[in-house]
Amino acid sequence: MRKTIIAGNWKMNKTVAETKATLSELKELTNGVEGVEIVIGAPFTALESAVKTVEGSNVAIAAQNMHPKDSGAYTGEISPVMLKEIGVKYVILGHSERREYFHESNAFINEKVKAALAHDLIPILCIGEKLEERESGKTSEVNEKQIREGLAGLTPEEAVKVVVAYEPVWAIGTGKTATPEMAEETHKEIRDVLIAMFGAEAASEMTIQYGGSMNAKNAAELLAMENIDGGLVGGASLDAPTFIQVIKAGA
Ligand code: PEP
Repeated sequence: MRKTIIAGNWKMNKTVAETKATLSELKELTNGVEGVEIVIGAPFTALESAVKTVEGSNVAIAAQNMHPKDSGAYTGEISPVMLKEIGVKYVILGHSERREYFHESNAFINEKVKAALAHDLIPILCIGEKLEERESGKTSEVNEKQIREGLAGLTPEEAVKVVVAYEPVWAIGTGKTATPEMAEETHKEIRDVLIAMFGAEAASEMTIQYGGSMNAKNAAELLAMENIDGGLVGGASLDAPTFIQVIKAGA
């Protein structure tokens, strides 16, 4: 059975002090919540204190990006070795904001996915089409390319460790959500690509999250769909009492 994973992506929000305060609150609220893996993607500066704050709870910490190399002359970058050393468990890779503003290619993201796996970090590979791609009927093609190139060269044993986050770009931070039926249709297509790449057994074990304005109101109906196995949540993850409602919708 694949895991349900609800992950928060805080993006460039929260200082160390704010991280500690929100995670202390979340730790209390998630006490006793079962059946869902809870992840918070904190900014780099707050990762170490985030890991310490959630110690002993069922909340895991993610980085929001990573360089594929272990070390070297890459000014401003953070390596998998550095993340591993401080107890980070997950890493969000290929988020549409990184693809858009930092021009990350599928090939570069693929290097990162492989590096994460080599260092025993769980990659959350983000994929998703832009509005104009959906409107011109290219949704399936765009997502298939991002999956095939992002996960190129992985064995089925490696692929089962990867989480895929389907995030239609037009739904991120816009308040527009794909309807559950629309999201399920694309999730099913994503699962079919994973079946073609890694076989039915491996693909059935892979968690595919939905992301794009998921919130306390719409989470339950999205998560009820057969191929939606969790969420990657931006805005609604910043406040612990709000985020716990999304988490409980998946529990
Ligand atoms: C995201 O950043 O991955 C995201 C889905 O953001 P939001 O929930 O705010 O749309």
